[in-house]
Amino acid sequence: MGADPLQSPASIFTRAMQTSIGATVTDTAAGDAITMALKQFGLTALRSSQREVIESVIAGHDTLAVMPTGAGKSLCYQLPAMLLDGITIVVSPLISLMKDQVDSMRAVGVPAIDVTSQSDESERRNRIEQIARGEAKLVYVAPERFRSQRFIEVLQRTKIALFAIDEAHCVSQWGHDFRPDYLRLEAMLTELKPERRVALTATATPEVRGDIERALGLKDAKVFVRGFDRPNLFFAVESIAKKQKGLRIAALKRENEAGGSCIVYAGTRKNAEALAEELKSEGLKTGVYHAGLADETRKEVQDRFMADGYDVLVATNAFGMGVDKRDVRLVIHADLPRSLEAYYQEAGRGGRDGEPARCTLLFNGSDIRLQEYFIESSHPPAALMRTLWKTLRDEPALGSDLQTLEARVQAKNTMQLEAAVRQLVSAGLVVESTRGLEATRPPEGAPPFDADGPMKRAALETQKLTRIQAYAYSHRCRRFEILSYFGDEDARGKSRCDGCDNCVERPARAIDARERDRVLAILRLVDRTDGRYGRARLVQILLGDDNDELRQRGLHRLSEFGALSGTDKSVVFDAIGAAEATGLLETEAGEYPTLSLSEQGLAVLRAPSSLTELVVVAPRAQSAKSKKPVKSQGGGPLDNALVDKLRTLRTEIAREEQRPPFMIWSNKTLDALARHRPTSYDALLRVPGMGEHKAQTFGNRILEIMVPGTFSSHSK
Ligand code: ADP
Ligand code: ZN
Repeated sequence: MGADPLQSPASIFTRAMQTSIGATVTDTAAGDAITMALKQFGLTALRSSQREVIESVIAGHDTLAVMPTGAGKSLCYQLPAMLLDGITIVVSPLISLMKDQVDSMRAVGVPAIDVTSQSDESERRNRIEQIARGEAKLVYVAPERFRSQRFIEVLQRTKIALFAIDEAHCVSQWGHDFRPDYLRLEAMLTELKPERRVALTATATPEVRGDIERALGLKDAKVFVRGFDRPNLFFAVESIAKKQKGLRIAALKRENEAGGSCIVYAGTRKNAEALAEELKSEGLKTGVYHAGLADETRKEVQDRFMADGYDVLVATNAFGMGVDKRDVRLVIHADLPRSLEAYYQEAGRGGRDGEPARCTLLFNGSDIRLQEYFIESSHPPAALMRTLWKTLRDEPALGSDLQTLEARVQAKNTMQLEAAVRQLVSAGLVVESTRGLEATRPPEGAPPFDADGPMKRAALETQKLTRIQAYAYSHRCRRFEILSYFGDEDARGKSRCDGCDNCVERPARAIDARERDRVLAILRLVDRTDGRYGRARLVQILLGDDNDELRQRGLHRLSEFGALSGTDKSVVFDAIGAAEATGLLETEAGEYPTLSLSEQGLAVLRAPSSLTELVVVAPRAQSAKSKKPVKSQGGGPLDNALVDKLRTLRTEIAREEQRPPFMIWSNKTLDALARHRPTSYDALLRVPGMGEHKAQTFGNRILEIMVPGTFSSHSK
């Protein structure tokens, strides 16, 4: 039917829905109604993630949609709002954006209004009357609106089809922009009894997700986490000595033929400054950015970065918010970030234009100490806060003598003392005046002070740190590690990609009988012990170590005890690594990372003959060596047959791409390829003149020439 743009869409769609609502969502009538509504919005198709969410909402489920910015979350409540009988309330903290949303909804004929502090009292009253008269279909409000009794009364008499909570992570105290008003929503919802709830956010961390479900009272919620993959980003981790980091960054930048910008993230201002100096002395145009610089300096640096004025910008995590440079080709982390989500957010500043970008984490086992120090210093123990308060009460003079105070209360460092003061100030137990700090009594009616709160948060931070540490050490697909941590459904069933070091450098190869026996012994042991142990303990058991601790725990009675005795210890470690890299074992984050069976591992235990391929992990020493940059003129003697093969490949590609052969790669590069004979993606990247883009585009075909039969399955 031809939609008449002047006819009220509410009536068109309400009619369409009357025949389909209450029926199943797969019902074609509901599908038709969605299609019609979509047309009304001027869109041709729903994205698959949107479809899932919208169908769940229309079917009446409480729903949580976690999707990145730009994925189209708004439509997930706008479209149901149009189709459902009753009004839809949208809660969002972003008042400034509401007007645009309201205008665009009206433009497509949906009666939408916003009730916010931006309009004056009488206008607000007007709009609330509109709701009362049933003239609004979609109502945008900030959470503060529910402080108004009049507003609530009107809503109580209104049929609320859908209650949508946008930016739902604001309900989480772990989130980056917690809004206390969001916590009151649950009580509101209990009272207003909307037919269904939908919460939407771009923050994909497990604990925030849990908080949202709990704090908004979502019941048996359908949770959809989709769309976090960034296929154009290549993820790599290099384990490297602290002192080598600067050199390695310079090398990575030089090898990166694609050009574009490069951001290096450092863990502290001091590290950022030091790295910047080193890179400058390497001859790179280098900028520094951190919160310790004056505002105008920061602005200058940012402007120059935007204008391509640097080869490299070294920054702390203070850099990036609101900076949208599309052609960042390289994001290097010189220190371990505090969490996988912080890492992914920063790495995600690469390749915004959709072109390939490389994200490399330079990792040194001791990096973890820096983050542990931060966690400890910024989360004061309860005892410290008590002592601090009592000291300030009994010796008021110390309130202006912070140095003595720090020693007296035995704070670990100034940072920890400051953190303790902040906690007490926000609880109203300490006030800051011109005279210094002063202890007070808790104000009347204040909630009890949660002295253990900081330590609980510290425990969570530590857990996150362990998780990113596991990422750094992981032999599995990095992309899979990240996406499965976020719970992104797109990761399901995929444990290999073609855009991370682990997948590209270590293709699977046929397994031999001895390797299979080793892997099976490992899987059986992990299964038998329910994934309780880490790799060192597993190796001890498999080798049948004569060890009191094993005996005390009764582990010497397991049938796998000594199953691999006589095997070299490093071989057993590597076999565990291989089982993990192949996706048969998963690392569980925790204080002591333990290994458990993955679904795939379980399947192999049930049908051992199904295990035909293994991803072999190179021994550590060798892989460290292979990371060393090669000198431009290095490499072995020239093999003419190989040169011919490479030249033929170049001609072939040139024909496909309809470009002259020298544009594919130069004769010099051809020579270098033949001399260096790269056998891995990383080695390929180190061949002078190769570069990221070429390596990604033709890499597999070149590697197939070097190691026939290994890379062909990966070629495009
Ligand atoms: P989010 O809230 O997830 O950040 P928005 O709802 O603001 O995303 O949508 C981002 C952009 O995508 C908007 O310009 C919107 O019009 C567009 N968009 C949303 N859904 C679709 C679709 N199915 N087809 C085409 N464009 C869409
Ligand atoms: Zn991968």
